[in-house]
This record gives sequence, C-alpha cells and structure tokens, in this order.
Amino acid sequence: MSARVLAGPPVAAALLADAAARASRLPTPPNLVIVRVGDDPASASYVRGKSRKAGEVGLRSTVHALPETTSQAQLLALIDTLNRDDDVNGILVQLPLPPQIAEAAVLHAIDPRKDVDGFHPLNVGELWAGRPALTPCTPAGIMYLLEHYGIPVAGARAVIVGRSHLVGRPLAALLLNADATVTVAHSRTRDLGAVTREADILIAAAGRPDLITPEMVKPGATVIDVGINRVLNAEGKGHLVGDVHPDVAAVAGALTLVPGGVGPMTVAQLLANTVRAAELQHAAYSDS
Ligand code: NDP
Repeated sequence: MSARVLAGPPVAAALLADAAARASRLPTPPNLVIVRVGDDPASASYVRGKSRKAGEVGLRSTVHALPETTSQAQLLALIDTLNRDDDVNGILVQLPLPPQIAEAAVLHAIDPRKDVDGFHPLNVGELWAGRPALTPCTPAGIMYLLEHYGIPVAGARAVIVGRSHLVGRPLAALLLNADATVTVAHSRTRDLGAVTREADILIAAAGRPDLITPEMVKPGATVIDVGINRVLNAEGKGHLVGDVHPDVAAVAGALTLVPGGVGPMTVAQLLANTVRAAELQHAAYSDS
C-alpha cells in the first residue's frame, strides 16, 4: 500500500472534544432526543451507540422506543411535544420507519432548529443556498475529515458516486460551498471510470463492494470510501467492506478504510450538530 491512510477515529475524537468543550460553555448540557420505532436490531444498536457517545461528551440524551404498530399520528404528536419543549435541543428520528408512517411527513414535522440530521427541507434549502445551518452528519463529517488532513478542496475536481439524500446530494452542496468543482455520478452514469478518473477527490457512496477499482482512480487522488457493505468471506463469515477495491491503495495518494474511516465521523458529527443546535437556540433566546 502506498496511499496515506486518512484514519477516522482520531479525527472523530478531535470533533467530539471540540463539541464537548463548546457544550461545557452552555448554561445547561445540550439535550438530544432520539426516537426509534419498531424492533429492528440494527436500528436499536445504532441508537444505543449514539446515546452512549452523547453521555461520554457531556450531553444529555433520551431515547423513546415506540412499538412497531405506532401510527403516523402518534409519532407526529410526540414530535410536536418535543418541538415545544424548550429543554429539548435536538430531535433525531431513526430511519427506516415502518410502512404505515410516511418518512417525509415526519422529517417535515421536526422543528428545523432541532433537526440534528439536517433532513428538513428548510435546512436542505439553506445548504444549497450556501447558508448551511444544520447539515447531514455523514457529509459534514467527511468535510471535517478532509480539512483535518489538509486535503485541498477549493479548486479541486470532486466526483461523488451516489446521489442519495443522505450522502451524495448534501455532500455535493458542501463541496460546492467549499469551492470544489463537483460531479455527481449514479447508476445511470455512462462510462463511470472516465468520470471518476477526473477526480482529485473521489467519494464512493454507492453501497456496492469493490465498485471503484484501481484503473478508475487518477494517480495521487484522495479517495473517500463511504460504503458499508456486509459480505461473506471464503469461510462464510460476515465482515464489512467499503465500495473501494483494496488495490486502489497502490494508485491513490490518500484514502479512508472501511471500517475505521468515515463511519466514526457520522456519530461525532451528530453530537456536534446537537451542540450547534443548542448554541443557535441559546443565542436566539438571549436575543429575544
Ligand atoms: P443509497 O442506496 O440510498 O444510494 C446509493 C447511490 O449509489 C444511488 O444514488 C445509486 O444510484 C448509486 N449507485 C448504486 N450502484 C451504482 C453503480 N453501480 N454505479 C454508480 N452509482 C451507483 O445509499 P446511501 O447513500 O444511503 O448509502 C451509500 C453507502 O454508504 C451504503 O453502503 C451505506 O451503508 C453507506 N453509508 C455509510 C455511512 C457511514 O457513516 N459511513 C452513513 C450512510 C451511508 P441511483 O440513484 O441511480 O440509484
């Protein structure tokens, strides 16, 4: 391997330390409320991880675990209560939701000032207008990682593979706001390799193991692997891989690994967003 490894854990630790320091300057510890619906073990485990990390950096967190049969009206009523509660700074509804609940209705209902996932249309619009307030966690975490390792973004050609609302689209806006020249590729892109070879910064967020092979990468490029794919090895054991083939390390100048790359940034950024939300709310109350 010749590429420099951009490790996520130390950068996530730096982001968390910064969030903890900012939280300690507020009159009360920021309060994150996480709402989960149903029995999906993966969702339950993500929520436990987020809540535990919140406690580690001095934030308060409460988890509402609602039954699988919860109606949309019941969930919206809870969000309304949380929106009105001045002691709640951030609200996160863990996705996916059961089929009887429309995701869009829920994301629209969260007070944009408490929208720590950055999915409310107002926050999406502000991001694309170049005035980001609360931005989606994985893309914001990637920007923090690039900055931490001194990867130049302004003027760089950035190519993102994937156009989801969770990763690809908000990351395109953040890179554009940081003066990169941005291309967003997806499953209908013709000759993906020709597009990715243009990239100084290549971000793979497709959820396809080994999609990015060495010949698709410009020598010396920075490669950020967002993909998290569970695959079986020769012995039939499950393990996690990204979207980038391991041989890319021989071509790239710098790259993130899976695990140990972007993943830890996402939770750290969620807590940084919670502190940011509390700061904005505190400033608004102090002004009024
Ligand atoms: P989605 O499935 O919502 O989006 C995948 C995107 O990749 C789509 O835009 C799709 O194109 C595109 N795509 C799929 N196959 C190809 C292909 N062969 N060539 C080009 N483009 C392709 O996934 P998410 O954005 O939610 O997540 C992407 C990956 O990142 C997943 O592995 C997920 O687990 C991981 N992830 C990791 C996080 C972390 O913290 N590290 C956080 C969030 C996600 P089209 O739109 O045309 O269908």
